[in-house]
Amino acid sequence: MDTIKVKRNILLNPGPATTTDTVKMAQVVPDICPREKEFGDIMRNMRKELVKIVHGDPEKYTSVLFTGSGTMNIDVCVNSLLPEGKKILFVDNGAYTSRGVEVAQYYHLPYIDLKFSFDERPDLALVEKTIQENPDIDIVYTTHNETGTGILNPIREIGEIAHRYGKQMVVDTTSTYAMIPIDMDRDNLDFVMASAQKGLMAFTGLSFVVGNRSLIEKSASYPTRSYYCNLFLQYDFFEKTGEMHFTPPVQTVYATQKAIEEYWADGEEKRYARHLEVWNAIHEGIDRLGFRDIIKKEWQSGMVVSIKYPNDPNWNFEKIHDYCYERGFTIYPGKVASTDTFRLCTLGQIYKKDIEDFFVVFEEACRTTGVQLPARY
Ligand SMILES: *Cc1c(COP(=O)(O)O)cnc(C)c1O
Repeated sequence: MDTIKVKRNILLNPGPATTTDTVKMAQVVPDICPREKEFGDIMRNMRKELVKIVHGDPEKYTSVLFTGSGTMNIDVCVNSLLPEGKKILFVDNGAYTSRGVEVAQYYHLPYIDLKFSFDERPDLALVEKTIQENPDIDIVYTTHNETGTGILNPIREIGEIAHRYGKQMVVDTTSTYAMIPIDMDRDNLDFVMASAQKGLMAFTGLSFVVGNRSLIEKSASYPTRSYYCNLFLQYDFFEKTGEMHFTPPVQTVYATQKAIEEYWADGEEKRYARHLEVWNAIHEGIDRLGFRDIIKKEWQSGMVVSIKYPNDPNWNFEKIHDYCYERGFTIYPGKVASTDTFRLCTLGQIYKKDIEDFFVVFEEACRTTGVQLPARY
């Protein structure tokens, strides 16, 4: 396949990510009906690869694919895995775990929202105490990297507590999967979730849950609360037929297949190191210009930097955004209710040099809009 020249934009938003040209071109394939065996084979193999990325034992873990954006996984896990009469404990220090809480509300499911400040790591003793005091908790749910702020939650420690009390551990790993090494057994996880457009650096439309096969099979007897977003139904259909229940995102699947190939070509360590290198370059840039972030550095995931708006009457995020956007760089608003922030993220096929180039443009944007540098607080 010939490649065509596509303009390279640097996306610093939290997904979709900057992709390689080879992944972009992998979408251009002869038309095919996804019910063909040839296509089923691609998905069967992909399901195995997705388990391998999080070091899952293929006997014990499986992956289930869905057509949708990442929030679909939250919906699926929350509505499908809760036995009758049981509760979900949300260990909640940010917008993405709060989204899980909202899903529970929409399904009228019983839950406990154990809230912590957006800039604090969850208090493990309080998590344990809550489990002890509420024996009807069946699921412990949290988010690995709270993408709204970039705080990294101690999932291995939370998972250890959950498992000590015989609970299912469900983690939204959408913004760490294929970026930060994850190991299902070592990290005490039963279910993790991700989407093709984030760490894998493919496109929107394909999301997946990697999870414990026997717990999925057990969930067949739980109340069914959704038709399209039911984990067991989707799993069972695939196991029996080798196909997704409904139409898969065909072109995104081809792109994801290519993206997984490129992931293995780099390897887990190299990918992680590159994201951290980009993160360090972002910190150098904000330090140089006097901007401040909101999360203690040692707690940051390395995948997102959340930056406080300066205390400057000329600061106008929209203007800065537009100036950068016109020059090929996309920056993104924050997701913290109490503080005005914007975010710079490290996912995607981007490098230290891209960040250095970005800060040249960002500095120009500040100067042309009259923002004082170093930034005032
Ligand atoms: C991106 C993201 C999602 C999914 O968001 P969509 O807009 O539905 O793709 C879910 N959880 C986390 C932690 C994320 O970063």
